[in-house]
Amino acid sequence: MNGFVTKGTNITETGVKKSIGGNMKILASACLMGENCKYNGGNNYCGELVNFAQEQKAQVLTVCPEVLGGLPTPRIPSEIVSGKVTNREHICVDEEFRRGAEAALKMAEDFGPDLIVLQARSPSCGCRQIYDGSFSGKLIPGMGVFAKLLTENGFDVTDSEEFDIMVSGSARI
Ligand code: SF4
Repeated sequence: MNGFVTKGTNITETGVKKSIGGNMKILASACLMGENCKYNGGNNYCGELVNFAQEQKAQVLTVCPEVLGGLPTPRIPSEIVSGKVTNREHICVDEEFRRGAEAALKMAEDFGPDLIVLQARSPSCGCRQIYDGSFSGKLIPGMGVFAKLLTENGFDVTDSEEFDIMVSGSARI
């Protein structure tokens, strides 16, 4: 199953893997937990994730790799263009995205999450699909910079839409 780290976990009655001898640890995109770190100054509050974390009495670590990389909020939206993260004004922000992803990876390694849930389609946090770099709303298969770095370092990731389906059986709109 996507999103569940296998080391030191067992499977609860709900099918969710949980740390042995401790509360579940969840690493989440900060915007999903209601932090106003999204490019437009808003958030992507995910009630299903917040409720799930409360029900599990989980320890939750929120990270926003773009903010960790030194980008302001609000900021100009970015997409991955020919392998480099570039904002809509054609300014390369690849270094900031990668610096933030590295910082967030270190936090993940220190935390040791059982579950990682990231915002869908983000150029940092997207796990299955990202925008194609044309700023026209077209999606392609791919991962954001942070999600990719996590998987390259052995973590399983799930995105917010997959999480909604797993937990409630239907996707958020
Ligand atoms: S970088 Fe990730 S956590 Fe930060 S606003 Fe974008 S999707 Fe949310």
